[in-house]
Formats: sequence, structure tokens, C-alpha cells
Amino acid sequence: MIKKFIPKMYVKDIFSIDYNKLKDLGYKLIIFDLDNTIGSIKETKCRKETSLFLNSLMKDFKVIVASNSGKGRVSNFLKDVKCDYYYLSLKPTLRILRKVKKKYKIDYNKIVVVGDQIVTDIFFGNRRGALTILVDPIRNIDFKITSFNRKLERFINKKNNIKRGNYYEEK
Ligand SMILES: [Mg+2]
Repeated sequence: MIKKFIPKMYVKDIFSIDYNKLKDLGYKLIIFDLDNTIGSIKETKCRKETSLFLNSLMKDFKVIVASNSGKGRVSNFLKDVKCDYYYLSLKPTLRILRKVKKKYKIDYNKIVVVGDQIVTDIFFGNRRGALTILVDPIRNIDFKITSFNRKLERFINKKNNIKRGNYYEEK
């Protein structure tokens, strides 16, 4: 059970991922988390460099954002990003993974999940064998609702010997 909380890869941020390698390995679709993965919780709009980057990724992948935040925050944030998105995603439930699988006719093992939280994003992806990539939170400020998850995360990461800044390519 606790193994399901171990990300396959751990990198600093979304810009540090080797997307060419993911493409060569046959991955077709990437689900990004929003808060603290593509933007900090203090930002209401996606930074220009990030939106350009995400839009450029769409040449090679279907790009999706799945956030547990509400509609207003997610739709405003992604105004300049031409991707499909889901709000109130209820990660780590499998709701969005199932929807994505059906809508894009894709197998779970062709999906990459990128996020900053072990308890929501990584567990979510690992439950169905997607490739999971953990990133450091953009800032060390979270929405209040996240503080319990962070406590749990510290406990789980200790058990799994995952330390902040000890990046790895495969586990
Ligand atoms: Mg997050």
C-alpha cells in the first residue's frame, strides 16, 4: 500500500522533465496538477513562460490539467493555456483517470501524471499504473486544506526514504 505513494521519478519542476524520453517511451498524454505544480497558489494566472511551455508540449502530447481546486480558479489560471482541464477533480479518486481513459481512448500505461503531492497526485497515478513524476512545490505555501496531506506526506516519505531535493530518474 505504502509503495503506491512512491513516484517513479522525482525532479525539481515541470521544466526539468525529459519530455523527449517520455515521447520515445511511448507516452501520449500528460496530466498536470495545477497548484504548486504549474503555478503557486498566490498566482491567479499562468505565467507566460509556463503557458508557452505547456502550449509547446502539445505538439507531442495531449496535455491536461486536473486540479482539486474550484472552477473559477482553474479556468482563470488557464486562460492562456490551450489545454483541456478538470476542476474539483477529487484526486486521489480515480474519477478523472477513468474519464480521461474513455474520452481520449488511451490506456493507463500511456499516461503520465505530474504533481507536487504524494497523497493526491502520485497516489492517484500509481493506482492505475500511470507514470508518476513528483515535482517540488513551487512555493512552500499551500491552501489550508492541504496541510493535513502535507503531514501525511512527511510521514510516508520518511517510510519510503524520499527526501526533498534527492531527485531521481527511476524508482
Ligand atoms: Mg498541487
